[in-house]
Amino acid sequence: MPTSFQRFFSQLKYRIDVIFGLIFPQKCVGCDKETMHKGRGVCFACNSKIMWSQPFEREINSQILQGVNLSNVHAAYSLFYFSKDGVGQSLIHQLKYRGSWKTGLFLGEKLGLSIEELVRVNQLDCLIPIAMFHRKKFDRGYNQAYYIAKGLSSITGTPIRQNLIKKRKQTQSQTKLSREQRRMNVRNTFVVSDKLKKFQTIGLVDDVVTTGSTLREVCKEIINVNRSIKIIIFTIGVARIE
Ligand SMILES: [Zn+2]
Repeated sequence: MPTSFQRFFSQLKYRIDVIFGLIFPQKCVGCDKETMHKGRGVCFACNSKIMWSQPFEREINSQILQGVNLSNVHAAYSLFYFSKDGVGQSLIHQLKYRGSWKTGLFLGEKLGLSIEELVRVNQLDCLIPIAMFHRKKFDRGYNQAYYIAKGLSSITGTPIRQNLIKKRKQTQSQTKLSREQRRMNVRNTFVVSDKLKKFQTIGLVDDVVTTGSTLREVCKEIINVNRSIKIIIFTIGVARIE
């Protein structure tokens, strides 16, 4: 039960957000139209178009789990399915190509709110964002997986650990490759730190999963360092395999 003190502050915060929104209208991350919402959110119309998944939704979980196919990976969770022309796709596009790292925070928070229970049950030691190749990160200015992890961490309180995974080369885009080609493409691209030995359960954070080959490759490297580690996967979108 929130105390009257907490209620007072949450109402005050809400009012400040509304006034702030009137003076500086915020744009919806989905359609770019002005919205009354606080920044980095989506408008009601866009929100209703996204195929948000429910916690523990089997179909989504199983697509990631089957793709990764490693027994150390205990659960996988994704916020939504995305289709090529949907709002989910434009959110991911904003996040990756239009410099909107705030979209990552927004989606991470949303993910955090829907899986608080899962995180509590699994007692995660830390959240690890999937690494980008350093030159690509320099070009983009940020790693989007880090901001998703940051949003997630702000809700669950789980600490983020960066620099435990490194991507040592830039890989070819996976979009036009078959499952087998994807596996070959990401082979031996990640290096993981010995520090992973001290963790029991970690959350691995990524933006979009299709066949799960990248995640599989990262998980294999992690398991090589720590055979008994338990891994939970968190992603924003799951693309249906065509
Ligand atoms: Zn919108």
